[in-house]
Amino acid sequence: MTEDLLQLPLQFLKGVGPRKAADLKKAGLNTVEDLLFRFPRRYEDRSRLQTIISLRPGMTAAISGEVLNAGLAHTRRPGFRLFQALVQDASGQIQVVWPNQAFLKDVIRAHQRIVLFGKVELWGSRGLQVTDPEFEIIKDGAELDGSREAGRELDTLHTGRIVPVYERTGSVTPNMQRRFVWQALEQLPPDGFDPVPGDILATEQWPARRDALWQAHFPEATTSIDALNAFATPAQRRLIFEDFFVFQTGLALRRHENAQVKKGLVCAVDDRIRESARKVLPFKLTQGQRDALAEIVADLQKPWPMQRLLQGDVGAGKTIVALLAAVVAMDNGFQVAMMAPTEILAEQHYRTVVKVLDGRPYRTALLTGRVTAATRRDLLPAIERGEVNLVVGTQALVQEHVTFKSLALAVIDEQHRFGVVQRGTLAAKGLNPDVLVMTATPIPRTLALTECGDMEVSVIRGLPPGRKPIRTLVKADSRRDEVYALIRDEIKRGRQVYVIYPLVEESEKIDLKAATAMAEELTRVFPEFTVALLHGRMKGDEKAQVMRAFAGGALQLLVSTTVVEVGVDVANATLMVVEHAERFGLSQLHQLRGRIGRGEHASTCVLLYQAPWTDTARERLKAMADTSDGFVIAERDLQLRGPGDFFGTRQSGLPTLRAGDLTRDVDLLERAYQEARVRVDAGTLSPEQKAYVRGVWQRQFGLITVG
Ligand code: ADP
Ligand code: MG
Repeated sequence: MTEDLLQLPLQFLKGVGPRKAADLKKAGLNTVEDLLFRFPRRYEDRSRLQTIISLRPGMTAAISGEVLNAGLAHTRRPGFRLFQALVQDASGQIQVVWPNQAFLKDVIRAHQRIVLFGKVELWGSRGLQVTDPEFEIIKDGAELDGSREAGRELDTLHTGRIVPVYERTGSVTPNMQRRFVWQALEQLPPDGFDPVPGDILATEQWPARRDALWQAHFPEATTSIDALNAFATPAQRRLIFEDFFVFQTGLALRRHENAQVKKGLVCAVDDRIRESARKVLPFKLTQGQRDALAEIVADLQKPWPMQRLLQGDVGAGKTIVALLAAVVAMDNGFQVAMMAPTEILAEQHYRTVVKVLDGRPYRTALLTGRVTAATRRDLLPAIERGEVNLVVGTQALVQEHVTFKSLALAVIDEQHRFGVVQRGTLAAKGLNPDVLVMTATPIPRTLALTECGDMEVSVIRGLPPGRKPIRTLVKADSRRDEVYALIRDEIKRGRQVYVIYPLVEESEKIDLKAATAMAEELTRVFPEFTVALLHGRMKGDEKAQVMRAFAGGALQLLVSTTVVEVGVDVANATLMVVEHAERFGLSQLHQLRGRIGRGEHASTCVLLYQAPWTDTARERLKAMADTSDGFVIAERDLQLRGPGDFFGTRQSGLPTLRAGDLTRDVDLLERAYQEARVRVDAGTLSPEQKAYVRGVWQRQFGLITVG
């Protein structure tokens, strides 16, 4: 059966030993199917053979001929060996050279027929030569037309056709991979299982699976090379769709399964509760906030647990939305947990909670590492008895140490990692609460569809009215004096200033030194101001102390590493200077910049760069200066970095898409998302299709269960 062959480990293929298998595994290729879904990086048309007489310098050409003589040439450079051959076709002769490949003397010999693909160069007085070409020795009687219809025997793999060029994976060269792929394709039975539903194939006029695989790797000579290199042939698109479709079906099955789960506490909404929510409202919600709130409150009333991601740019006003949802749950007599990644953020939330809920009959509590043991001793049982309505705390603490009596809603703020695999539901002692995850990292829709595809997504676009736009300046480090003048002006006006230093793990010590030195320098430059340093290596309470001093206005200049990135809200801080801005990712810069522009005063962000900088660094800073729309920035970031790096780490839990590309194949992803959802909801997938999807998920994501 097809599945059986496709699911075999790659060592099954001839020529793949333990070493190569290990190298392929490192690149995410475990099974024969994985190998076949790893597209070539590009395609080269080596099919149109040229006559030797027609060759001109600068051409990349495919020629075929007979080897007249071959051997190692004498060179004057010590240690340098040149293998050369004289090749002749009906039109003429040409010299071919391979630098430093002495072993070819045992491969290429006189009288052989050979096909070559490579660059034609003018070589001084000696005339034209072909340098370091790919080649293939033609066995007697083999076809040269590049068509696989001619019995699919190995005619030529590497030349004389449109040739797939794979990425090198460890010890596996592109040529080897080409042979492995060919070998695998040859063994595919004609009537294998196809995970793409037949009606989709029919409407799209896409080829069947086996044909598509052949055409994606060894295209017929008539295929447009441009279409191939754009990954836009029907065969390629079909496989990309399949890749997305299988993944999306897995997500849809999970979502479907989630909807079968009964949650313990279902909220009801009536006029009394609406009035109660209105009472706490400190300002008029924006349309985006209202829509998001409506979606959340609708979920609260459903019998299955909500899993919703609330996206909104920094400062979009997610907190109040979460808090209003909390009011609904609390008015139903249930408990709510609000969790943040750091103590500073938890405290900040708690201040908001206390302010907004002032005078309302809810009992709230803050639970962080700073809460004394004595308080905690009283607090935990009170929560367990259900006497505390709202617990704000750090995520770790709340999830690990708290038992709730009636937890209906868990809000998780500033979540930056959404790995489908990592994200477990909140362990809530069998209550299956509604879960609202909030992030200020705008996620491009394509990523949201994959990373967070088993969650519902609400997006708050735009910012509350009255925000002052932030002016962003990109400056060379040599203009530091101007920046110091800016700092002085700003502080004299009563404002506060951030100076941000990059800190990357690999050079953490050096970076920390640099940040420390900068704090010292700024203390010298601005003796009249109070300057402090904040970094991740400081103890939690030390950090919090500095942050509190800054928030309270006691500090005027805060030199900080990126620990200040998430969610911190100091309205009086109106100037941010980012040192070594060229070293930051785009989304990270956007997050940082979001720390200013939060109050009534206009703000400025200065991105200081040190030359030399790369083109992408330049693009990043330009994008920052061009726009302040987090969603636009996120799309640019995705294009510049690629999906694997978008979340800052390859271990983000991002599913490994095999053929699809989230920036190139957006339309197919959308289509796959829709098709998968509709089919799972309507129950029209065959048991075989479901079993296949489960298999792929299991192999790719380990323990995860689907449907
Ligand atoms: P974020 O979405 O980044 O978490 P916050 O919830 O911290 O943003 O809100 C940012 C600021 O905007 C807060 O000071 C909040 O009080 C204010 N805010 C939120 N919504 C509105 C609104 N509709 N009108 C006016 N101010 C608002
Ligand atoms: Mg926030």
